[in-house]
Amino acid sequence: MADKHHKEERTFVIIKPDGVQRSLIGEVIKRYEKIGLKLVGLKMGVTTPDMVEKHYTLDPEWMRKTGEKTIANYKKKGQEPPSEDPLEITKVVLESLKRYITSGPVIMMVWQGAHAVGIVRKLTGATEPLSSDVGTIRGDFVLDSYVMSDVAGRAVRNILHASGTVEEAEDEIKLWFKEDELINYRLIQEAILYDVDLDGILE
Ligand code: GDP
Ligand code: MG
Repeated sequence: MADKHHKEERTFVIIKPDGVQRSLIGEVIKRYEKIGLKLVGLKMGVTTPDMVEKHYTLDPEWMRKTGEKTIANYKKKGQEPPSEDPLEITKVVLESLKRYITSGPVIMMVWQGAHAVGIVRKLTGATEPLSSDVGTIRGDFVLDSYVMSDVAGRAVRNILHASGTVEEAEDEIKLWFKEDELINYRLIQEAILYDVDLDGILE
Protein backbone atom coordinates (compact mmCIF):
# COMPACT_ATOMS: atom_id res chain seq x y z
CA MET A 1 0.00 0.00 0.00
CA ALA A 2 2.90 2.36 0.75
CA ASP A 3 3.68 2.98 -2.92
CA LYS A 4 0.04 3.50 -3.86
CA HIS A 5 -1.75 6.85 -3.75
CA HIS A 6 -4.35 7.07 -0.96
CA LYS A 7 -7.06 7.59 -3.56
CA GLU A 8 -6.56 3.97 -4.66
CA GLU A 9 -7.53 2.54 -1.28
CA ARG A 10 -10.48 0.15 -1.47
CA THR A 11 -12.94 -1.17 1.06
CA PHE A 12 -15.57 -3.88 1.08
CA VAL A 13 -19.16 -3.39 2.23
CA ILE A 14 -22.13 -5.75 2.61
CA ILE A 15 -25.64 -4.40 3.00
CA LYS A 16 -26.96 -7.22 5.18
CA PRO A 17 -30.47 -8.70 4.72
CA ASP A 18 -32.05 -6.28 7.23
CA GLY A 19 -30.64 -3.31 5.28
CA VAL A 20 -32.17 -4.64 2.08
CA GLN A 21 -35.50 -5.37 3.82
CA ARG A 22 -35.54 -1.88 5.34
CA SER A 23 -35.23 -0.39 1.82
CA LEU A 24 -31.93 1.27 2.72
CA ILE A 25 -29.90 0.26 -0.35
CA GLY A 26 -30.23 3.71 -1.93
CA GLU A 27 -29.63 5.55 1.36
CA VAL A 28 -26.41 3.62 2.06
CA ILE A 29 -25.08 4.08 -1.46
CA LYS A 30 -26.00 7.78 -1.35
CA ARG A 31 -23.94 8.37 1.80
CA TYR A 32 -20.79 6.66 0.52
CA GLU A 33 -21.23 8.29 -2.88
CA LYS A 34 -21.83 11.82 -1.58
CA ILE A 35 -18.58 11.93 0.40
CA GLY A 36 -16.64 11.38 -2.83
CA LEU A 37 -15.97 7.65 -2.86
CA LYS A 38 -16.19 5.74 -6.14
CA LEU A 39 -18.21 2.55 -6.52
CA VAL A 40 -15.98 0.04 -8.36
CA GLY A 41 -17.85 -3.22 -7.69
CA LEU A 42 -21.51 -4.01 -7.04
CA LYS A 43 -23.59 -7.16 -6.97
CA MET A 44 -26.64 -8.63 -5.31
CA GLY A 45 -27.03 -12.22 -4.18
CA VAL A 46 -27.97 -14.72 -1.51
CA THR A 47 -24.85 -15.99 0.20
CA THR A 48 -24.06 -19.27 1.99
CA PRO A 49 -23.07 -20.20 5.57
CA ASP A 50 -19.72 -21.35 4.16
CA MET A 51 -19.00 -17.90 2.64
CA VAL A 52 -19.98 -16.17 5.88
CA GLU A 53 -17.61 -18.42 7.85
CA LYS A 54 -14.80 -17.83 5.33
CA HIS A 55 -15.43 -14.08 5.53
CA TYR A 56 -15.20 -13.86 9.31
CA THR A 57 -12.26 -16.24 9.63
CA LEU A 58 -10.05 -14.58 6.98
CA ASP A 59 -8.28 -13.07 9.97
CA PRO A 60 -7.24 -16.12 12.03
CA GLU A 61 -7.32 -13.89 15.11
CA TRP A 62 -10.92 -12.71 14.60
CA MET A 63 -12.42 -15.59 16.62
CA ARG A 64 -10.22 -14.88 19.62
CA LYS A 65 -10.42 -11.07 19.40
CA THR A 66 -14.20 -10.99 18.99
CA GLY A 67 -14.63 -13.46 21.86
CA GLU A 68 -12.44 -11.34 24.13
CA LYS A 69 -14.29 -8.17 23.08
CA THR A 70 -17.66 -9.80 23.76
CA ILE A 71 -16.55 -11.00 27.21
CA ALA A 72 -15.24 -7.49 27.99
CA ASN A 73 -18.59 -6.00 26.85
CA TYR A 74 -20.49 -8.23 29.26
CA LYS A 75 -18.18 -7.36 32.15
CA LYS A 76 -18.35 -3.61 31.38
CA LYS A 77 -22.10 -3.83 31.87
CA GLY A 78 -21.61 -5.74 35.12
CA GLN A 79 -22.98 -8.95 33.56
CA GLU A 80 -21.70 -12.49 33.63
CA PRO A 81 -20.53 -13.67 30.16
CA PRO A 82 -22.05 -17.01 29.01
CA SER A 83 -18.50 -18.44 28.96
CA GLU A 84 -14.96 -17.35 29.88
CA ASP A 85 -13.62 -19.03 26.74
CA PRO A 86 -13.40 -16.47 23.87
CA LEU A 87 -13.51 -19.17 21.18
CA GLU A 88 -16.62 -20.76 22.63
CA ILE A 89 -18.35 -17.36 22.65
CA THR A 90 -17.39 -16.55 19.06
CA LYS A 91 -18.57 -19.95 17.84
CA VAL A 92 -22.07 -19.00 18.97
CA VAL A 93 -21.73 -15.49 17.46
CA LEU A 94 -20.56 -16.99 14.16
CA GLU A 95 -23.54 -19.39 13.96
CA SER A 96 -25.89 -16.44 14.55
CA LEU A 97 -24.09 -14.43 11.89
CA LYS A 98 -24.48 -17.28 9.38
CA ARG A 99 -28.26 -17.44 9.99
CA TYR A 100 -28.56 -13.64 9.78
CA ILE A 101 -26.48 -12.96 6.68
CA THR A 102 -27.91 -15.88 4.66
CA SER A 103 -31.53 -15.05 5.55
CA GLY A 104 -32.16 -12.97 2.43
CA PRO A 105 -30.49 -11.11 -0.42
CA VAL A 106 -27.49 -8.92 0.32
CA ILE A 107 -25.66 -6.21 -1.62
CA MET A 108 -21.90 -6.58 -1.97
CA MET A 109 -19.89 -3.49 -2.85
CA VAL A 110 -16.35 -2.26 -3.28
CA TRP A 111 -15.77 1.46 -2.71
CA GLN A 112 -12.57 3.26 -3.68
CA GLY A 113 -11.09 6.60 -2.67
CA ALA A 114 -8.85 8.38 -0.18
CA HIS A 115 -8.84 6.54 3.14
CA ALA A 116 -11.81 4.47 1.91
CA VAL A 117 -11.58 2.01 4.83
CA GLY A 118 -11.58 4.66 7.57
CA ILE A 119 -14.08 6.97 5.86
CA VAL A 120 -16.59 4.14 5.30
CA ARG A 121 -16.22 2.97 8.93
CA LYS A 122 -16.82 6.56 10.09
CA LEU A 123 -19.99 6.93 7.98
CA THR A 124 -21.17 3.44 9.00
CA GLY A 125 -20.85 3.96 12.76
CA ALA A 126 -19.99 1.67 15.67
CA THR A 127 -20.83 -2.05 15.46
CA GLU A 128 -23.52 -2.02 18.16
CA PRO A 129 -26.35 0.27 17.01
CA LEU A 130 -27.10 1.29 20.61
CA SER A 131 -23.78 3.15 20.71
CA SER A 132 -23.40 4.19 17.05
CA ASP A 133 -23.24 7.99 16.81
CA VAL A 134 -26.19 9.95 15.50
CA GLY A 135 -25.45 10.91 11.91
CA THR A 136 -23.88 7.56 11.07
CA ILE A 137 -25.89 5.03 9.05
CA ARG A 138 -26.28 2.66 12.00
CA GLY A 139 -26.95 5.55 14.40
CA ASP A 140 -29.67 6.94 12.16
CA PHE A 141 -31.44 3.82 10.93
CA VAL A 142 -31.26 0.99 13.45
CA LEU A 143 -31.80 0.51 17.19
CA ASP A 144 -30.57 -2.96 18.12
CA SER A 145 -28.24 -3.87 21.00
CA TYR A 146 -26.13 -6.81 22.21
CA VAL A 147 -28.41 -7.13 25.27
CA MET A 148 -31.41 -7.67 23.02
CA SER A 149 -29.71 -9.87 20.43
CA ASP A 150 -27.87 -12.05 22.98
CA VAL A 151 -31.06 -12.76 24.94
CA ALA A 152 -32.81 -13.72 21.70
CA GLY A 153 -29.84 -15.85 20.55
CA ARG A 154 -29.39 -13.95 17.28
CA ALA A 155 -26.82 -11.65 15.70
CA VAL A 156 -27.11 -7.94 16.31
CA ARG A 157 -28.96 -6.33 13.38
CA ASN A 158 -26.65 -3.57 12.27
CA ILE A 159 -27.47 -3.27 8.52
CA LEU A 160 -23.88 -3.30 7.28
CA HIS A 161 -20.52 -4.94 7.23
CA ALA A 162 -17.54 -2.72 6.40
CA SER A 163 -13.87 -3.77 6.38
CA GLY A 164 -11.94 -2.75 9.49
CA THR A 165 -8.44 -2.36 8.03
CA VAL A 166 -6.78 -2.04 4.61
CA GLU A 167 -5.44 -5.62 4.89
CA GLU A 168 -8.87 -6.95 5.87
CA ALA A 169 -10.39 -5.08 2.91
CA GLU A 170 -7.91 -6.60 0.46
CA ASP A 171 -8.65 -10.14 1.71
CA GLU A 172 -12.41 -9.61 1.73
CA ILE A 173 -12.48 -8.12 -1.78
CA LYS A 174 -10.56 -11.18 -3.05
CA LEU A 175 -13.05 -13.49 -1.33
CA TRP A 176 -16.22 -11.82 -2.63
CA PHE A 177 -15.21 -10.44 -6.05
CA LYS A 178 -13.41 -11.78 -9.09
CA GLU A 179 -10.80 -9.43 -10.55
CA ASP A 180 -12.92 -8.80 -13.68
CA GLU A 181 -15.94 -7.81 -11.59
CA LEU A 182 -14.07 -4.71 -10.40
CA ILE A 183 -14.01 -1.75 -12.76
CA ASN A 184 -11.11 0.66 -13.13
CA TYR A 185 -12.43 4.00 -14.27
CA ARG A 186 -12.09 7.70 -13.63
CA LEU A 187 -14.74 9.91 -12.07
CA ILE A 188 -14.67 13.52 -13.25
CA GLN A 189 -14.98 14.75 -9.63
CA GLU A 190 -11.66 13.09 -8.73
CA ALA A 191 -9.88 16.07 -10.28
CA ILE A 192 -11.47 18.35 -7.66
CA LEU A 193 -10.87 15.87 -4.83
CA TYR A 194 -7.25 14.97 -5.55
CA ASP A 195 -5.48 17.12 -8.16
CA VAL A 196 -2.78 19.39 -6.80
CA ASP A 197 -3.83 22.39 -8.91
CA LEU A 198 -7.41 23.35 -9.60
CA ASP A 199 -6.58 24.66 -13.06
CA GLY A 200 -9.24 24.82 -15.71
CA ILE A 201 -12.18 25.87 -13.58
CA LEU A 202 -12.12 29.59 -14.40
CA GLU A 203 -12.61 30.53 -18.04
P1 GDP B 1 -17.60 -4.89 12.65
O1 GDP B 1 -16.26 -4.91 12.03
O2 GDP B 1 -18.08 -3.53 13.06
O3 GDP B 1 -18.66 -5.65 11.86
O4 GDP B 1 -17.46 -5.69 14.02
P2 GDP B 1 -16.61 -7.00 14.36
O5 GDP B 1 -15.79 -7.44 13.18
O6 GDP B 1 -15.94 -6.75 15.65
O7 GDP B 1 -17.77 -8.04 14.62
C1 GDP B 1 -18.47 -8.66 13.59
C2 GDP B 1 -19.80 -9.12 14.11
O8 GDP B 1 -19.62 -9.92 15.29
C3 GDP B 1 -20.73 -7.98 14.53
O9 GDP B 1 -21.48 -7.46 13.44
C4 GDP B 1 -21.59 -8.67 15.56
O10 GDP B 1 -22.63 -9.40 14.94
C5 GDP B 1 -20.64 -9.66 16.22
N1 GDP B 1 -20.08 -9.08 17.45
C6 GDP B 1 -18.96 -8.34 17.58
N2 GDP B 1 -18.77 -7.96 18.86
C7 GDP B 1 -19.81 -8.48 19.57
C8 GDP B 1 -20.19 -8.45 20.95
O11 GDP B 1 -19.55 -7.84 21.82
N3 GDP B 1 -21.34 -9.13 21.30
C9 GDP B 1 -22.10 -9.80 20.36
N4 GDP B 1 -23.19 -10.41 20.76
N5 GDP B 1 -21.75 -9.85 19.07
C10 GDP B 1 -20.64 -9.21 18.65
MG1 MG C 1 -15.01 -6.49 11.55
